[in-house]
Amino acid sequence: DQPRQETREDSPEDVLHRVFGHPGFRGRQEEIVRHVMAGGSGLVLMPTGGGKSLCFQVPALCRPGLGIVVSPLIALMEDQVAALRQQGVAAAALHSDLPEDQAREVKRDLARGTTKLLYVSPERLTLDGTLDFLSRRDLALFAIDEAHCVSQWGHHFRPEYRGLGLLSQRFPDVPRLALTATADPRTVEDIRAQLGLQDSPVFRGGFDRPNIFISAAPRESERGQLRAFVKSASDGTGAGIVYCGSRARTEQTAAWLREDGHDALCFHAGMEPEAKREAHRRFARGDAVIMAATIAFGMGIDRPDVRWVAHLDLPRSPESWYQEIGRAGRDGLPARALLLYGAGDIAIARHRIQESPAPDEQKRIERARLEAMVSIAEAATCRRRILLRCFGEDGPENCGACDVCRAPPRLFDGTVAAQKLLSAVLRTRLPSGGHFGLGHVVDVLRGKVTPKVAQFSHDKLKTFGVGTDLSDTAWRGVARQLVALGALDVAIENHGELVPTEAARPILKGEQPVMLRAEAVAATAPRERGER
Ligand code: ADP
Ligand code: ZN
Repeated sequence: DQPRQETREDSPEDVLHRVFGHPGFRGRQEEIVRHVMAGGSGLVLMPTGGGKSLCFQVPALCRPGLGIVVSPLIALMEDQVAALRQQGVAAAALHSDLPEDQAREVKRDLARGTTKLLYVSPERLTLDGTLDFLSRRDLALFAIDEAHCVSQWGHHFRPEYRGLGLLSQRFPDVPRLALTATADPRTVEDIRAQLGLQDSPVFRGGFDRPNIFISAAPRESERGQLRAFVKSASDGTGAGIVYCGSRARTEQTAAWLREDGHDALCFHAGMEPEAKREAHRRFARGDAVIMAATIAFGMGIDRPDVRWVAHLDLPRSPESWYQEIGRAGRDGLPARALLLYGAGDIAIARHRIQESPAPDEQKRIERARLEAMVSIAEAATCRRRILLRCFGEDGPENCGACDVCRAPPRLFDGTVAAQKLLSAVLRTRLPSGGHFGLGHVVDVLRGKVTPKVAQFSHDKLKTFGVGTDLSDTAWRGVARQLVALGALDVAIENHGELVPTEAARPILKGEQPVMLRAEAVAATAPRERGER
């Protein structure tokens, strides 16, 4: 009977309750702990605060032998060791800053076998003496914290981490668990390759920030939309951040927000160092300020009471958007995020990637990220679910904390509208091959005889006036969704010419129906539903 009782006492749940005082595992912790308990290796991707530590601490305490934790920062090691000791765990740290006498003590405990968890710097671990010592010991696991330090792709590369590749050869039977908050696919693959984890699972989780209500809207009247958002999202004491796509826009935005009576500052990389420091100081001090900034603002801001984050321009990727909105609501209280975007943003971003000198492989990745961002912006289903999918995490069907879940958009069959718009674009094409911009195409659809329409005799076209059933705004909505769907391209360098793509063909031929969001073609003329 006794052995069974022992195993029960040492079960992961027991250790979780008894040692760490938590009632249950969170997210994917349990799955990861079971995997390691069974001797498996793997990579854990969780954001900061997601609960990575328990993923290795619990199995290290449950499995027989010594658990080794590789950590790049001495301060971090010391913190964790102090916390564990307070919880009654025989933990110790070994690194180059340790005074000689303390190092001797740590080694003596190790030799005696009383230490259960050893935190060690990578350079210390990979010394021959250390490896020889460990090869004679029973080892519970290796945890490689901040595993992105092994990759040269990121900005945190530590040459000492490269040596950790030998662990898989020298200790093939000891589980290796790498942990990081980085979700960048290239870095992830590099970590797996460097640490010999190609055949081991990747666990992603904990990315959800349920207290942040997320919403997105096509940019119509930018200031009006931001005003309304700020009004609904501010609590009068916390801060807000408006991310802008350019330095000039941060300055303009801060200026009109000040005219509106807000305490608004701006921040971008082109400012004088002193001005930047001052902006940081004002923000950190805890005043109820609004910061209009480029993405240069963000590192090292840990103000807990940022109540809202707005984006006036489409972020480059779901990863950047997630990171930026994640600056809101760190105190766990309700916070809001708003994303404004336009068809132009999408087109500009696509062109920028197209024309960048980056290698094709990188362009492919950037394009995929951008398209994922577009799909979040244009989502007809839960935005949070789509966002979490980008991190490989399954969200609920309906999060209840995004604008789509709160008020699901009505979809309607926009095939005919799409066909009208695309054929107006095609029929107004000039003999030279040039195309017109949206304004002119909408004038043709709506049957307006403008000087330009007259000049090109576009009032004689078959498509002239076929679009009186929708408003100008509605047609812009249709065009934007066609851009998002990839059926239309906006040639930025050519004054915003609309150019149909290959994807327009099946739509024009009636081979592919187009579902459009009713809201996006808001201010719709009354005949919208009776169409056809
Ligand atoms: P990370 O290393 O991923 O940044 P930590 O491991 O430091 O995150 O955990 C973040 C916080 O969440 C800690 O305060 C920790 O105590 C808490 N935490 C982690 N897992 C649980 C859990 N299962 N139940 C309750 N609190 C938890
Ligand atoms: Zn949702």
